[in-house]
Amino acid sequence: MIRQILAIALLTTSVQVAKAQSMVGSTCAPSASGLTKCEFDEVVAKIDRIYRPQFATLGGHLWLRANWKSNDLNAHANEYGPYWMVSFTGGLARQPRMTRDAFAMVACHEVGHHLGGAPQMMLLPLSNEGEADYFTTLKCSREFFADEDNAGALRGTLVDRYAADECKKSFATSPERLICLRSVMAAKRLVEVLQVINKDATKISFRTPETKPASIFSGFSHPKAQCRLDTFLNGARCGVPVKTALSATSYEAGSCDRKDEPPNEGSRPRCWFRP
Ligand SMILES: [Zn+2]
Repeated sequence: MIRQILAIALLTTSVQVAKAQSMVGSTCAPSASGLTKCEFDEVVAKIDRIYRPQFATLGGHLWLRANWKSNDLNAHANEYGPYWMVSFTGGLARQPRMTRDAFAMVACHEVGHHLGGAPQMMLLPLSNEGEADYFTTLKCSREFFADEDNAGALRGTLVDRYAADECKKSFATSPERLICLRSVMAAKRLVEVLQVINKDATKISFRTPETKPASIFSGFSHPKAQCRLDTFLNGARCGVPVKTALSATSYEAGSCDRKDEPPNEGSRPRCWFRP
């Protein structure tokens, strides 16, 4: 609890700033295990509200398929001409340690396949798995949490001190720092839930980034758990404004990567990305 209070104090330069934030957030009763249908519907509706107009601007029609009744552990994205599909199941949302924030990161990842830009999959016009993760905290979580009481949400979370310090270093204002920290804590929970599903007992930590570089090219499949955590942290630390879009033809646009410059703390981790 002390660690949590310390981190909040580090991030909140003025109580007034936090209180001035909108109190809009979940209106659902919290659940002790996994999401309730109310929370599931709420996340899906918010993703729809944020991204339907953005998809339309790019010529796509957001096709949201949310199947609460399905017990499948599934979420995916695909494109069928102008219909850009994003799909989720209740089975994934009902995983015992899944939270509303972590499930929002699932939704953001799937949206990221459509809006994450380069690098893309080899045979599909979709951002690859690493890029969808990068988009999640670089763009989507910032929009998703923008109108919420982020200080209040973090009060119920065991906050990681290292991540809190990194967010503090990366951003000058309290609202930005709070969204950065809320995003990476939500993403860490998601990675942990997926590790349980995948029976992956590997220890992950913000303090121990993957150092082994990607083999030949930016991969097609999901990076390993630690590499995914690194991607979520780096996306959250990148200071490029949320409204600066990523691009399918340039990995520099909207991101913290620059050609001919070494990677920085906001770059795509080299455990999956080969510029
Ligand atoms: Zn994916």
